[in-house]
Amino acid sequence: MSKTLTQLACQRVQALTPYLSARRIGGKGHVFLNANEAPKAEQYELDCSRLNRYPECQPPEVIRRYAAYAGLTADQVLVSRGSDEAIELLIRTFCEPGEEEILFCPPTYGMYSISAETCGVGMRTLPPLPDFQPDVPAILAELSRGKPIKVLFFCSPNNPTGTLVAREKLIPILEATAGKSIVVVDEAYIEFCPEASMVDLIRHYPHLVITRTLSKGFALAGLRCGFTLANPEVINLLLKVIAPYPIPEPVAQIAAQALSPEGLDTMRSRVAWLNRLKAELKAELAQQPCVQSLFDDHGNFLLARFDSGSALFAAMVDAGIILRDFGSKPMLENCVRITIGDEAEMAAVLDVLKRL
Ligand SMILES: *Cc1c(COP(=O)(O)O)cnc(C)c1O
Repeated sequence: MSKTLTQLACQRVQALTPYLSARRIGGKGHVFLNANEAPKAEQYELDCSRLNRYPECQPPEVIRRYAAYAGLTADQVLVSRGSDEAIELLIRTFCEPGEEEILFCPPTYGMYSISAETCGVGMRTLPPLPDFQPDVPAILAELSRGKPIKVLFFCSPNNPTGTLVAREKLIPILEATAGKSIVVVDEAYIEFCPEASMVDLIRHYPHLVITRTLSKGFALAGLRCGFTLANPEVINLLLKVIAPYPIPEPVAQIAAQALSPEGLDTMRSRVAWLNRLKAELKAELAQQPCVQSLFDDHGNFLLARFDSGSALFAAMVDAGIILRDFGSKPMLENCVRITIGDEAEMAAVLDVLKRL
């Protein structure tokens, strides 16, 4: 019997709903504060003299500079097409489709579930405690039932709540999973609170993996460049799975410049500037009668609960300001996330809030 092209796709792809990124949701506006992007770009230099050649799989200068930045050795670093690719590589490397599963604690970043679904890997979710910390006893109990849980994802600072996973929560999880599972800490926003990194724990826990990105603090979301920090044995396994030429030559050149001493200085002053604007916006939000509560503020965004999240969101749209509405997510009724933009963008947000 003849099938449509869609029917020819494998079952799990037919069942997929693609990730609704801020970009795909779109919206008419002129102030985009919905994707945790940096408000402005830097300039870089490109040398095209070697573009006829295939690039290095793991550009050595990028690896060397990121390792130095992260306080690790080169064999503990993998570079990939954004940290989104790292998330998928980890699932493909460690989970047997249909037999082994991943675990995470929503509300959190959407790509853990998307990647698992794409790979045919089942997932188990557990709600966090009311303070958005992982519920350690519940996680430990979950580990000992059902199909094996091979990869656990924690996001710190968490998108969208801004929460940091407490060390005293992560350590018992690392203790309980040694020799059984991989524990991933997604540090996409760590530049905004570098002292909170768990990277030092890699020495003690060889099954701890940290994912990073140049998309947020480094203001390079368009570059698509991310990193995995882990034990060399884990890095070597991921290298078996990654594409042969995952990092285009221009990406490697720009990443190396962003990770140079001057690039790091630029990143650190941007982060200080955005953290200052975040503190100012937070103080203003706390004064507004329509704001019920504010969440943690460890990333380049603020999540707030409003009297009516949808009314706030709509008022912003009318003013050409696009935020991200999380009202339909577990535990986040009436919550809207605001990316920290530049002074003019933050003033525009406050202007709408004060007139609400
Ligand atoms: C933005 C984001 C990423 C994606 O990073 P890319 O390197 O751009 O793929 C990963 N994790 C979290 C929590 C994020 O918010």
